[in-house]
Amino acid sequence: MNALKRKILTLIEAQGPLTLAQYMAIALSDPEHGYYMRRDPLGRDFITAPEISQVFGELVGLFFVQAWEDRGRPTLFELVELGPGRGTLMADMLRAAAKLRPQFVEAANIVLVETSPTLRGVQEATLASSQVNWVSRFEDVPADAPLFLVANEFFDALPIRQFVKSERGWHERMVASDGASLCFMLTPDIAPLSIIPQGLRDAPLGSVAEVNPGAAALMHSIAERIAEKGGVALIIDYGHAESASGDTFQAVKDNAFVDPLAEPGEADLTAHVDFGALATAARDGGAYVPRIFPQGQFLDALGIRVRANRLKRESPETSSEIDLAVDRLTNPQHMGTMFKTMATFEGQDRTTPPGFNA
Ligand code: SAH
Repeated sequence: MNALKRKILTLIEAQGPLTLAQYMAIALSDPEHGYYMRRDPLGRDFITAPEISQVFGELVGLFFVQAWEDRGRPTLFELVELGPGRGTLMADMLRAAAKLRPQFVEAANIVLVETSPTLRGVQEATLASSQVNWVSRFEDVPADAPLFLVANEFFDALPIRQFVKSERGWHERMVASDGASLCFMLTPDIAPLSIIPQGLRDAPLGSVAEVNPGAAALMHSIAERIAEKGGVALIIDYGHAESASGDTFQAVKDNAFVDPLAEPGEADLTAHVDFGALATAARDGGAYVPRIFPQGQFLDALGIRVRANRLKRESPETSSEIDLAVDRLTNPQHMGTMFKTMATFEGQDRTTPPGFNA
């Protein structure tokens, strides 16, 4: 049995079953054995858009240059990325931005929000030529200037709670011990209805409602900062545009789904992002949220085909590789519609960031 599983079983013996959120937090972020703490999973367990093609990060860079110009080119701003993985997205953003508008890069105080010491090390190497600061929590990002923030495949890693509907009400799904292994169980008690998203309360018996209190709280803080200091946040992830019922808790190892309770710390644990809930949290925080777009449509609007064609002219030998990458990022059969993009900015009266106009 792996050491983290033993630790979790001991914890359950001492304190009783864990909520899914508690289990996810330990499995991903335990300082000693947490999944993200000691390894670089990118490219091994899963692959993300910035790792598929440099075009992705370049377009996101141009997105922020445009948003910065539309806001009168502030001479100091916070350029923040949540969960930067290998640092590839930020490196591609900065390279594209520097070519077009060096002043943008000069005005940026770059802050990476990262908890994993291993991935911080990788980011340091990737971004060696830039001046970069690290913090562990968004709250520690300086609050003195406009905020331009990006998060790709970050919110899916934040711990969720699950509730299952019976005739009597909603029961929380817990992780319990069954001797030497971990198992799911439902609490016999009924959860307060207020915790279930409004739109799901009338769901049929047996429905699963997922809530992510940490994600909502974080989105709320980001929106408050934007409402006060100005700026734009861009959130990209897999998930649904409106809150919907269903169990999306999943574990991935070596590019395949595995049992999420079998080997805590050895597999990536995620859930689909509820963009409806994130949008509500952002609006409650005082910011504006335009329509949520599928990733494919967003990248098309930013000109992914034009950019890909230019790259192909520059290096014709990589032509088919580029076509494949564009297809993977935009095709509805791949990441095109399962992934969504959400923007948040100061107010309806401010210029809508590129790609969110339609
Ligand atoms: N954005 C990157 C990596 C996605 S993997 C990409 O697109 O390639 C998720 C990233 O979020 C990793 O860098 C992981 O270490 C980080 N992370 C996960 N939970 C976190 C938390 N609670 N706080 C800060 N970073 C976290």
